[in-house]
Amino acid sequence: MRWGAGFVSGDMTRTAVLALLARRGPLSRAQIAELLDLSPATITQGTRRLLAEGLLVEEAPRPSQGGGRPSIPLALVPESAHTIGIQVAHEHVTGVTCRLDAEVVHSFRHTFDPAAPDALQTLITLIRTEIDEARHRGLPLAGVGVAVPGIVDPETGTLRMSVRLGWNGLPLAARLREALGVPVFVDNDISAVTAAERLYGPGADEADFLLAAIGQGIGLGMVLDGAPYRGALGAAGEFGHMPVQPDGPVCVCGNRGCLESLVSTEALLRRAHDAGILPAASDLDDLGTAARNGDPAAVALLQTAATLLGRALAGVVNLLGPRSVVVIGEITALWDLLGEPMHAVLLDHLLPCVRDTTIEVRPWDDELIAASAARVVLAAPLAAPRQRG
Ligand SMILES: [Zn+2]
Repeated sequence: MRWGAGFVSGDMTRTAVLALLARRGPLSRAQIAELLDLSPATITQGTRRLLAEGLLVEEAPRPSQGGGRPSIPLALVPESAHTIGIQVAHEHVTGVTCRLDAEVVHSFRHTFDPAAPDALQTLITLIRTEIDEARHRGLPLAGVGVAVPGIVDPETGTLRMSVRLGWNGLPLAARLREALGVPVFVDNDISAVTAAERLYGPGADEADFLLAAIGQGIGLGMVLDGAPYRGALGAAGEFGHMPVQPDGPVCVCGNRGCLESLVSTEALLRRAHDAGILPAASDLDDLGTAARNGDPAAVALLQTAATLLGRALAGVVNLLGPRSVVVIGEITALWDLLGEPMHAVLLDHLLPCVRDTTIEVRPWDDELIAASAARVVLAAPLAAPRQRG
């Protein structure tokens, strides 16, 4: 299993073993070696340390099916390590506490204003409260993962640029680590979800997939040849800023006609309000209801969005040739309306050799990004001290 820089770094065998056992339950060393395509000696050595640290235990031997030596399953000790995952968005902060088997045991959500002068201090206070809560409950804490919408230097956890938060050149990991006194890893939100999908999700056995996140912003996670692709500057995957309409609206990035300025949930609502389809205070559910009730203007708006999205996605699939594309984000609430027309446009533009690429749509979960940030740190407890600011 290959991994790039970012959330998942350090001892890859350790990371892979912890994630595999969380996903599949107890397994013998031989089964682990086979599933991870690693040598039995590597697994024996890697698991010895995990056993010594109390993260794994040996279960009672099971008789071998072939009549050979009985096999000893190794199991995670769920309570032996916990991590906190935080999603910083432009209107709220979501946080979860995860235990070693990737189960979420606690969560919170607070409104948040990243433009406030004391925004960073507010964030620190929110995370500290969660750390105190974990300590109060006697949970051993391995670290904190923070996912942000923006371009993050995977080596240092410095936020280079976030148009959503308005934070630029902020050494976020270093600041949080200093204030909180615990290991902190910062990464781009979609990179965190993509890494968690590769480790814990249904995409764990897939070496080539894309993860299209479509909500208020649009991002693309890429796992190519088994490893997340980040680009030279950690800036790869800015799918939302693909130029699709020369005279289109001004995007949050300052350019004109980006995909995000036309089909993000924010853009769809703005266009629905501007066209008089919906009153000002309405939301995505109202847009869905209008289209499902046959409002021709709402139907046309979503048809246009589906066309733009299908065409843009076809370009990406033709370019990268993934086996599957996973779609996540708030937009999935409208997928009964968008899915079919999007797929028709996609097929019109796909090369014959990539027409079998599957599109998988996951129901949106408000905690997914925070839980992903927690899970990827969980898979590398104490072994990923690479981010230094
Ligand atoms: Zn843009």
